[in-house]
Amino acid sequence: MQVDHIDPQAGDALDNLCLSCWNCNNHKRQAVLVSDPETGEEVPLFNPRTQMWSEHFEWVGNATYIHGLTPTGRATVSRLKMNRPAIVVARSRWVEGGYHPPEY
Ligand SMILES: [Zn+2]
Repeated sequence: MQVDHIDPQAGDALDNLCLSCWNCNNHKRQAVLVSDPETGEEVPLFNPRTQMWSEHFEWVGNATYIHGLTPTGRATVSRLKMNRPAIVVARSRWVEGGYHPPEY
């Protein structure tokens, strides 16, 4: 995991930092506003410090895929490529092992 700046322009205060895997952080880059793939509207990326995961996302496909429920959820799934083939395979193995999905 890497320490990521939620808003890259907002400094190093703790409430602007979160943990991110390398892949998600690499796809996020400097983004704060991103396009909702359903409407094309520019919306904020999900903020894990101020928003609830379950309000913006749900697990589908036996918990192997993340589905965005809101404009922010859809835009975040798309921008961070949260359903990359390798992670979908990993999730299916975690489900088999009883490690996934996490409880919130
Ligand atoms: Zn990730």
